[in-house]
Amino acid sequence: MLDRFVDDLVVVDLTNEERFSFSKLTTYENCPYEWLLHYKFGERGSDNAFARAGSVAHELIDDYWRGKVSEFELPQEFENRWQEQFEDEGWSIRVFGRDVTEKTKNDFANYFSDVSLPDGWKVLESEKQYTMIFKHKGESIMLTGILDLLAEDENGDLIVIDNKSKAGFKNDAEKSEYLRQLYLYSLFIRERFGKFPKKLCFNLMRLPKNKRFVIEEFEEEAMWEIVKWIFKTTKDIKGEFLWEPKPNNFYCHSLCGQRYNCRFGPLYNEEEEDE
Ligand code: SF4
Repeated sequence: MLDRFVDDLVVVDLTNEERFSFSKLTTYENCPYEWLLHYKFGERGSDNAFARAGSVAHELIDDYWRGKVSEFELPQEFENRWQEQFEDEGWSIRVFGRDVTEKTKNDFANYFSDVSLPDGWKVLESEKQYTMIFKHKGESIMLTGILDLLAEDENGDLIVIDNKSKAGFKNDAEKSEYLRQLYLYSLFIRERFGKFPKKLCFNLMRLPKNKRFVIEEFEEEAMWEIVKWIFKTTKDIKGEFLWEPKPNNFYCHSLCGQRYNCRFGPLYNEEEEDE
């Protein structure tokens, strides 16, 4: 009986399969050397104030949609978590030397005073983790990620929502770069719900309610371009051997997780300090 069971059992060992995520792909695009230090050498990265602020907001809004925090409690809960992460630990947010901590805090506080979605939208999923394997022309890749929010409108159409801590996009090119992540989620949604979303929506949490939702129609053709980008980037990573640094002043100073470990960056040899 046991032998028969073992014969019928299908086991796929995925232990050594490399998993890719949107941030892993974009890290490589930003700077291959950062990718090398982080993903290959396992260097623990440094936190940054922007990511810290984003985490406070993301975790709180997820707790709200999961029912852990009520709408009524949101403003005070935001105040408490911000205080813990910034004021108690002496962190500040700086953009080219300018302290924007208070402004950022006020923007988020305004968001948590009214987090409602556009009329008629109903939340189906919040912070949904996924893992998928894609195969295309003999190449296969494993992708993982977390979908911020999936909503349904009054017509039953699906909307992918990405909560963003950014206060806007510099231009259309930057918006298109960020849209790639929403197209990636769309592939997961088709598998899970049997259809693509109708709309892709950025929830720019730091903007006033009337400017907060940036909504784009889903286009299947655009999605295929993203699929091509995913396969090309993973292929580039697998074939990479130079891992050249791509220094960029703002990114190296403020965002790169490896800014204190990288000998090509401006902060190498500087003591890591909590701002
Ligand atoms: S500090 Fe700059 S050059 Fe160094 S890994 Fe980071 S982004 Fe690349």
